[in-house]
Amino acid sequence: MTTPQNPSFTTQIVHADRRGGAEQGAIHQPVHTSVQYGYDKVEDLIAVFQGTAKGGFNYARQGTPTTAALESMVTQMENGRGTIAFATGMAGICAIFLTLLKAGDHLVASQFVFGNTNSVFGTLADLGIEVTLVDVTNAANVAAALRPTTRMVFVETIANPGTQIPDLQGIGAVCQEHGLLYVVDNTVASPYLFQAESVGAGLVLNSLTKSIGGQGAALGGAVTDTGRYDWSRYPNIFAAYRKGDPKGWGLQQLRKKGLRDMGATLSSQAAHQLALGAETLALRMDRTSATALALAQWLEQHPAVARVLYPMLPSHPQHAFAQKHLKAGSWLLSFELRDPGQCLAVCNRLQLPIKATGLADTRTLIIPVAHTIFWEAGPQVRAAMGIADGMIRLSVGLEETQDLLADFAQALQGA
Ligand SMILES: *Cc1c(COP(=O)(O)O)cnc(C)c1O
Repeated sequence: MTTPQNPSFTTQIVHADRRGGAEQGAIHQPVHTSVQYGYDKVEDLIAVFQGTAKGGFNYARQGTPTTAALESMVTQMENGRGTIAFATGMAGICAIFLTLLKAGDHLVASQFVFGNTNSVFGTLADLGIEVTLVDVTNAANVAAALRPTTRMVFVETIANPGTQIPDLQGIGAVCQEHGLLYVVDNTVASPYLFQAESVGAGLVLNSLTKSIGGQGAALGGAVTDTGRYDWSRYPNIFAAYRKGDPKGWGLQQLRKKGLRDMGATLSSQAAHQLALGAETLALRMDRTSATALALAQWLEQHPAVARVLYPMLPSHPQHAFAQKHLKAGSWLLSFELRDPGQCLAVCNRLQLPIKATGLADTRTLIIPVAHTIFWEAGPQVRAAMGIADGMIRLSVGLEETQDLLADFAQALQGA
């Protein structure tokens, strides 16, 4: 399949390892489990430590040839400059916030974010980093929240579970005008459906656990530098990393402080598994998006359903943007029942979707949102995020559309 932004997405990805020169003619990048990396001459070891060697490994906490191959694959997908892999998506998010923000700084973030990211905002506040949450579907709200101490703006391309899409271009323009670092969590859309570099994002976060890995079998995260941010303007780069081309400063600090010091490193075994999943990203996104759209259209006309949240429905508030900028709508679909009291019964009557948290597995997963992933947040946060008591979230898998439609038809009978 092809995308307008990147004419040969899957072709590039399935040949990435070979072009990287895997040893012994291996077609897949091997799994490197060595923790230490040694050199014949001590000068070569010194060059790796001092960053003057091209590539080179010393201790696996900072990466291995296997994690590096995955990093370069994600860089290609996001049309970026470089990527750092982490043990999880949350590790990548925490590395961004904790290594690039300081006490006294101000962060403007979307009020529609992954629940655990929202929980991290509370930690940042305790550390003296102020966070303002805004409705990012209008860039004017971001502009209005800016202060002289604002350093960073953080949004998700398709928010979970409400599927809100920020004014991604408008916010990019605001960040550009004020020299702010624009961070986009692209986990749900994935670089196949949307490249955040196209709207001026400086850093892109992907939970590799979700779309890119796609099998529900390994955790991972990645932070990609798109090359769009001028790090020489960023005040929080340590002197040690203000060396060489300023384009590399951000990732240098993230790797040393966020990966080496904080230690949430992706294992080579998990990197290998995630790289295998990444090869089928486009195929899975096309398939699950088509099924999710069919399901969304079917649910929207069902009398028991009050509202369906899916970007490719004309009823979605950001439908026009989605149609123009997203290749498809993704596997994420939420809906609300007219009678919230039926929420648990409907979930229980469904035979195929598995009652589980998690996203982007090959199997369809279903979860009542207010009772589970947003239970700890409480009613006020839920109301602010537009999460109704009867909201059900679906992560659509690879099952045949007709099988899912038949299952929903029986489960919604009498609801
Ligand atoms: C799951 C998720 C994360 C966190 O990723 P993990 O790999 O589970 O740590 C971050 N952002 C979004 C949008 C997610 O869905």
